[in-house]
Amino acid sequence: MFDRVALIGIGLIGSSIARVMRRDKLARSIIACARTEKTLNTAKRLNIVDETTQIISEAVHGADLVMICTPVSTYGEIAKEMAPALKPGAIVTDVGSVKEAAVTAVVPHLPKGIHFVPGHPIAGTENSGPESGFENLFEGRWFLITPPPGTEQAAIDKVANLWKCAGSHIEYLEPAHHDQVLAITSHLPHLIAYTIVGTATDLEEDIKSEVVKYSASGFRDFTRIAASDPVMWRDIFIANRDAVLEMLGRLSEDLAGLQRAIRIGDGETLEALFRRTQEIRRGVIEAGQHIPPAPVNLDKEK
Ligand code: NAP
Repeated sequence: MFDRVALIGIGLIGSSIARVMRRDKLARSIIACARTEKTLNTAKRLNIVDETTQIISEAVHGADLVMICTPVSTYGEIAKEMAPALKPGAIVTDVGSVKEAAVTAVVPHLPKGIHFVPGHPIAGTENSGPESGFENLFEGRWFLITPPPGTEQAAIDKVANLWKCAGSHIEYLEPAHHDQVLAITSHLPHLIAYTIVGTATDLEEDIKSEVVKYSASGFRDFTRIAASDPVMWRDIFIANRDAVLEMLGRLSEDLAGLQRAIRIGDGETLEALFRRTQEIRRGVIEAGQHIPPAPVNLDKEK
């Protein structure tokens, strides 16, 4: 499918797609770029890439596919650095969780004749780094493509085909619409988890230990989400500020409504909402999106 693939960033997402490309022989060679020797050495030890470098221009040299797999705040600098070294006709894609900011940061730097196909795999875990990746992470999950107007169809199809090999379903969205949808389905739930766990840690010491001790209830699930990478999530909230603030406003209104219902003992309102949300859960199960992906191939690498 590709001659030479450059992965800028080889953490959870970069290393997972590298494993897919290795498994299905989708690239003649894969070069990984990261900031630290440690990460690059791990990628080499896992045998998921052919070459490594800390220099972005060196990584993209001669690559027909460049995939940016770093936190969104790094995109502008990375695009600027790679631009002069890109092979004419190369496809540049990414996996960032916010799409308008990705387009705004990358497009102005790219020379004519480079195809930019932004994308976002709706798959992940709370873990980071090359060791946390696994080849079936994207199996049965959505890969959302948000191409800027005028993007060549052949380039879009190539990126889509790569993700189909990873087992993903493909959908196309406008970047702004993507950001609104993800603000409610992913970003707000993370914000709530960070808040609840943060509030608990502010409680006095003895209560905190009780919180951890009895965390088998809902709190445990929040701690898993709140263990997600701090840099990645810092960038997501800042890059998707408008959509997150809009959804947060709606949530605050709804929360105030629930607060009132509880205060005045309005059980009808509470029960009606909880019945509606049960239906939503049924929908998620029917869509096959309820089971978290499992790293089933980790043993093979040991
Ligand atoms: P990760 O595991 O933390 O890996 C990030 C990688 O980027 C590391 O290899 C890091 O190298 C490298 N990096 C960071 N800054 C760099 C720079 N300036 N130049 C070159 N390399 C740099 O992150 P991830 O979870 O794979 O997330 C990557 C992207 O995927 C993010 O944009 C995120 O929004 C998106 N995403 C994540 C998930 C998820 O659940 N994690 C899901 C969907 C999409 P070092 O280790 O050497 O610092």
